[in-house]
Amino acid sequence: MLNIVIFGAPGSGKGTQSERIVEKYGLNHISTGDVLRAEIKNGTELGKTAKGYIDQGQLLPDELIIDILASTLDSFKDSKGVIFDGFPRTIAQAEALKKMLADRNQAVSVMLDLDVPEEELMKRLILRGQQSGRADDNEETIKKRLVVYHSQTAPLIDWYKSEGLYAHINGLGDLETITGEICAAIDKVK
Ligand code: AMP
Repeated sequence: MLNIVIFGAPGSGKGTQSERIVEKYGLNHISTGDVLRAEIKNGTELGKTAKGYIDQGQLLPDELIIDILASTLDSFKDSKGVIFDGFPRTIAQAEALKKMLADRNQAVSVMLDLDVPEEELMKRLILRGQQSGRADDNEETIKKRLVVYHSQTAPLIDWYKSEGLYAHINGLGDLETITGEICAAIDKVK
């Protein structure tokens, strides 16, 4: 089983690269952001709660997102492995993921850190907001999300380094080159 954490700041290309990896390795894909956006679209209670946090550029409480992740994980049958996109975003979530996988006799295989300079992230997110209309891709919310990334999420880099699972990926450049670097890191742990 391949369990891949795709990591990086908002706008680093996690979603785009996940789609490519899913296709190449036949993995299941969990994007917590996509799950929450679907809940909002369907007008569920969870969606209503999530919208408050997302619109403010804040993270949902760990317990809530961990429950969502556990039920999504259990919905996969005969999986070859999973790519975790947008989760974990805090140390508590990383510890919960480790335990959740250990309970299923599994572990994270590698954490891929898509590294992209801040000015490029801003440019990409503003453009994405104009093209897709994603509500949280406006300049004010993007700035808040980047602050949250640096304070709550970036500490996971050292956490995964200490677990011996960290792989740095240069997230700047053409899509093919980035995918190539990602596949090389995955093939090493396969
Ligand atoms: P994303 O599509 O991954 O950029 O996520 C969009 C928004 O959903 C984030 O800004 C958070 O408000 C929320 N979200 C997604 N994943 C998580 C998570 N693992 N923990 C907490 N909040 C999350």
